[in-house]
Formats: sequence, C-alpha cells, structure tokens
Amino acid sequence: MTFKDLNLHENLQQGLQDIGFSEPTPIQEQSIPLLLEGKDVLGAAQTGTGKTGAFVIPIINQIINKPKDGIQALILSPTRELAQQIDEQIFALGYHTGITSATIIGGEDFSRQADAIRAGVDILVATPGRLIDQTKVLDVDFSTIKYLVLDEADRMLDMGFLPDVNHIIDKIPKKRQTLLFSATMPGSIKKLAQDIMNNPELVQIAVSTTTKSVTQKAYLIDGREKLKVVQNVLDTHEWKSCIIFTATKKGTDQLERLLSKKGLKVASIHGDRDQNERNKALHEFKNGHVPIIVATDVLARGIDIDDISLIINYDVPRAVEDYIHRIGRTGRYDKKGIAVTLVSKQDSKFFNAIERKVGKDLEVIKGGVKQAPKKESKKESGKEDRPNKDNSSDKKVKRKDINPDFSKLKYFTQSVNEEGKMVFTLIGKEKDKEEPKKQKSEQPKKQKQAKKKEAPRNKNNNSRNSERPKKSKKQSPRKPSVELKTVEKASERNVNSRRPAKGFWGVIKSMLPKFK
Ligand code: AMP
Repeated sequence: MTFKDLNLHENLQQGLQDIGFSEPTPIQEQSIPLLLEGKDVLGAAQTGTGKTGAFVIPIINQIINKPKDGIQALILSPTRELAQQIDEQIFALGYHTGITSATIIGGEDFSRQADAIRAGVDILVATPGRLIDQTKVLDVDFSTIKYLVLDEADRMLDMGFLPDVNHIIDKIPKKRQTLLFSATMPGSIKKLAQDIMNNPELVQIAVSTTTKSVTQKAYLIDGREKLKVVQNVLDTHEWKSCIIFTATKKGTDQLERLLSKKGLKVASIHGDRDQNERNKALHEFKNGHVPIIVATDVLARGIDIDDISLIINYDVPRAVEDYIHRIGRTGRYDKKGIAVTLVSKQDSKFFNAIERKVGKDLEVIKGGVKQAPKKESKKESGKEDRPNKDNSSDKKVKRKDINPDFSKLKYFTQSVNEEGKMVFTLIGKEKDKEEPKKQKSEQPKKQKQAKKKEAPRNKNNNSRNSERPKKSKKQSPRKPSVELKTVEKASERNVNSRRPAKGFWGVIKSMLPKFK
C-alpha cells in the first residue's frame, strides 16, 4: 500500500513526499483509514514505528478543507520535547495545506503562546500543565475541538497526569474523535480509555515488547564500577550517538561532569534545566555536534533522533515500561541499535522485573564486559548489514478490535530488504484469543516539568526553526582506555575495599595497620 491509496488531499500528499514518506507503516496503514472514517482509535505500537504520522496525517486531512475554524485538534504530550517534535511533523506534513499549529509547553514564552491561542490556530500541541495555566488567564475556546489525541497515553493517564488531563477533557465537547497512542498499553489504561473514548477500535502492533532491532545486554556489576564500565562500553562498541539514562537529575549532572573530565563531548538534559538549556542540549545532540547525551527519563518517551546506535542505562529504570521506552530510542524505524543496562546490587529488584518481561531477548553478563575488546559487529550497531537471518521474521504485528472481542488479528512480518529498508509483509490472519498480558502499571510520577519556572525563550530554538537531524560523522571505535582485565581486577579491588599502595606515602600508609 502507498499513501496514494489512502485518498489523501493532494496538498498533504505533497507534504508526505517532501519528507520522504511513500508507504504507510503498519500502524499508519491500520489507523489512518479508521480515523478517516471518524472512529476513535486506541493505537498501540512499538516506539519508532510511525505513531506520530498515524494521528497527524488523518487529522490534517480532515481539517484541510476547513482551516480557521477555531482550535480543531488538541494533542497532549507528557514532555515538552515530544510536543515540539510532534509540532515539527505537523509543520512538515502540513506545509502546503495552510494549516496552523502551536506548541503550548512549559518553559517557553507564555504571552507568545497566548497570542497563538487567541489567533485561533488549527492544532494545539500541549503539555497539560501549561495548557491549564493558559486557561487561568485566557478564555480558551475549547468548543471547536473535534480531535483529541493523547500521545504516550499510558503516561498521560497515570496518576501524575490524570487530574490535569481530566480537567482539560471536561472542557472539550463530548462529540469528538479521541485518539490514544502508546508504545506500552497496560490493562489499566484500556479501562480508563473506555471512559473517554467512544467505542474505540484497537490497533495493536507488537505491543509492550522490546524491538528485535535492538540488541539488549545487561552487565551485573559492582555499583562503584559503573563509570569504568560505561567507558568500556563506549570503547568496545561501534556507535554514532549515545544516550545514557540516569535515575536522578543530580546523577545526570554528576555523570556529565565525570564523562567530560574524561575528555568526552557530552551534553545533558533533565527537568530542572531551563528550556533554553534543554533545547540547546537536544539540538547539539541531534545535529551530531555532541555524540553523547546524559538524560533522565525526560528523553525516554517518543523522542525520535536519527541514528542513535547506543543506549546505556546507567541506572536501571524503575518500571518495565520505562525500560521499553528508553531502549526504544534506538533501533527506530529501519535502524538497529544496542542497549546496555548496568545492574548493580541496588538495581537488582528493578532489573528482575525487566528480566521477567524481556528476558529471552536480553543477554545477561556477569561482572562487566564479557569478551576481549572488539568492535561489535555491524549487525548489532548499524543499518548497513540489514539482511540477516535473525531479523527476517522477527516481529509479529497484529491488529484487533477492542469491541467486542480480540479476534481477527492480522500478522505481519517485519524484515529488511536489500536496500536496507524496513518491509512489512502481511502473512495471514490468525486468531489469538488471549488478552494482551497485563503489565505492572507505571509508577506514579508527579508532573513536575510542566510546572517549572518559566525561562527566557530562545528564539533560535523555536520548534519551527529546529533543523531536522543532520547526519553526523561516524564515530570510529576507540581503543579501550580501560582494559577488560583491569575492569575485572578493579571490581575485585573495590569489593575488598582496599586500594593498592602508591608512592612513598602509600607504602607508609600500607604499613600503618601493622603498628596498630
Ligand atoms: P515515530 O514513531 O512517529 O516517532 O516515527 C519514527 C520514525 O519513522 C520517524 O523518524 C519518522 O519520520 C519515520 N516515519 C514515520 N512514518 C514513516 C513512513 N510512512 N515512511 C518513512 N518514515 C516514516
């Protein structure tokens, strides 16, 4: 199927052509016709499979002939960066259509956003906190909204966001199309979805499992060795750009400093940074000027950056869903990637849950890096070596209706053709009566970012002006600075809490216990 078969408006077709979308991805192929028919859709697809297009394309097509009719679509996102990214796609796809959009997010100029709302843009992409703040000072007319999208729906409906989201939904006409999209779909959100949706269709594509295009490894290590192991992973894998996820904002700052001291070019991003700093860090990383970014989970969801080949979980994520979203930043669309998780004793209870969920896809290595330093094969790290046995029939892709039952699944295989492009092939219809497995619901987190103090706006970083990610120079694997033997020895040493004697005073000190 091509986009031409979907009978989309020619100006939208032009936008699709501009950004090089010729064939819809499975989530798009399944969702777009339903949305064009006016149905509500609960879309569950792995991260990086074209979810944004699945809702942006039909919305643009629906409002293309009736622009300037008040706010027609509201898209809610859990993070500012994701909202900006969605708006960029609206801008690119809607370039020839005259459709207008604006992001209403924390940390950006409040009055400019108010102007955009007053001017009556067609599509608002917002984080809930800032949108609510705007409603306190502005008389925002929600009565014209016909489309409501919750991206990263499970996050939007968890305890941290739910009150704000409900507050907004109460203002929107009941007669609307509601679209919920997420890579992870715990049973609890399906229930909540029923309350805000009207007889939704479920479009489900290999939900809640990690993608096979990501090679997953976990190193069981001494917590004090994390930095050395990070260095080692960076030295022994072939990668172009790398995200290192940490558990806390403080940890992010610390790790950035430590890696910078080692001479690495590193940026960092977390919720306590002002929006200028966040935009700058992301911009530099996206453009390849800085190959490593250290981040909290603020970068875990939905963010689409070209050619991220390596994810390092410096701290094990606290929820399985977060793990899936984090490693989903690599192996996107038609690429491959590596995800390495460092597991210390303190991390093990969180890791066990992850292992239960994705265990069969995860190589667990005791005590740091397993083999002698060598480049990871292209198979693991890049897009070059696409056709190989392992990935020819990896992914099962299925679609089913939420009401009345879960039958009539369609199965696709996902493979890679000789040109290195992802190909989805329908291989038949099968029945799978099982409900998708229930997952642990995500840990409630307070929506802090959206309420952060406002920061001066950096005009250059307006999402409209953001460049699309440029291809960065390939980073050649460096010689490991930490020999593998050293890593093992170091961990033994730290376990025993003894430092080898160094120099004259070291020798004296090492003798001291003898005098006790
Ligand atoms: P998303 O899951 O929406 O973040 O999309 C992941 C990546 O796939 C993005 O880089 C999109 O630009 C790309 N993409 C989405 N849909 C298509 C398509 N139909 N054809 C080619 N690339 C696509």
